[in-house]
Amino acid sequence: MEFNLIMKKDFYEILGISKSADAAEIKKAYRKSALKYHPDKNPGDKEAEENFKLAAEAYEVLSDPQKKAKYDQYGHQAFDGSGGFGGGHGGMNMDDIFSQFGDIFGGGFGGFGGGGGGPRRAKGSNLRIKVKLTLEEIANGVEKKVKVKRKVQAKGVTYKTCSTCNGQGQVMRVTNTILGRMQSASTCPACGGSGQILDKKPSEADSQGMVQEDETVSIKIPAGVVDGMQLKVSNKGNDAPGNSIPGDLIVAIEEIEHELLKREGENIHYDLYISFPEAVLGVSKDIEAINGKVRIKLEEGIQSGKILRLKGKGIPSINGYGNGDLLVHVNVWTPKTLNKEQKQFFENALNDEHFIPSPEKSEKSFFEKVKDMFS
Ligand SMILES: [Zn+2]
Repeated sequence: MEFNLIMKKDFYEILGISKSADAAEIKKAYRKSALKYHPDKNPGDKEAEENFKLAAEAYEVLSDPQKKAKYDQYGHQAFDGSGGFGGGHGGMNMDDIFSQFGDIFGGGFGGFGGGGGGPRRAKGSNLRIKVKLTLEEIANGVEKKVKVKRKVQAKGVTYKTCSTCNGQGQVMRVTNTILGRMQSASTCPACGGSGQILDKKPSEADSQGMVQEDETVSIKIPAGVVDGMQLKVSNKGNDAPGNSIPGDLIVAIEEIEHELLKREGENIHYDLYISFPEAVLGVSKDIEAINGKVRIKLEEGIQSGKILRLKGKGIPSINGYGNGDLLVHVNVWTPKTLNKEQKQFFENALNDEHFIPSPEKSEKSFFEKVKDMFS
């Protein structure tokens, strides 16, 4: 039976921050205390070790919004008997602290981190694949199933604690220099830092106990992706030996060019060709849009070069801010050969006032149209 008679220090006090500190301040304060009391910096100092553990406990609670709210309301009582923060401060051991707050130690402890550091979980390498998508798939979003060859730990493979570093992942090296004996920690050459080495493996596994396996991975691709964009599927890359986490699967998007539609960001361009009589008399046309045909009506006397904008018939924005447009470019097709009668008709029309160009002021010039398209 253990009695907890010692008044526990306030978590905010431990980290030296006020109750109004935000997440970033809490993290910063913890990093500072952790660096100050880190066992590597204070070898054999029990008080530093206690402070190190206390800071970790404080951070565990204050970095979690739910736990923090509970602590703010009930203080230490909130966690009595809950297992994690019961009597004394034996709640966390060094391994917990290092594995839980690895992200905080990651950058700052590169230089040291021997003694209490323990092994780091190795991460497997990333795999890369290309996925080709049609414009329709890009516009609607799609789920793709792809086959990848992943390196995974073979069935029946076992690992044992590395005897070179006793599972620490690092070894202390003593070198004699002109300044005297220098001690430094370096990654264990026998296990590569994982603290584990291969024990038993089946014959088909490689020297690290790994085999290649086909796996079908389902990838949800959101609407609006762009050629060259890379998506990450976490933990679907290669595994690494021992107690490790898999790498990621990096998916590069490749857009298959559409036969008729040209993509420009979120907008789609379509070149429509109409005949000379259609331009003169007006016509209805079915336009190939992304999700099926769209009927448009061209008024009589429509000019070549006119751009019709079909709102929202383009590609959705990847950020979910609506759709682009479909821009239909009207091109009037001029016949290259005529029969005798037709030729006669146009020869007569040459000096006819109906055929003399006279653009109305309301018709925008080419430059105004271009300006309009990008606004
Ligand atoms: Zn080792």
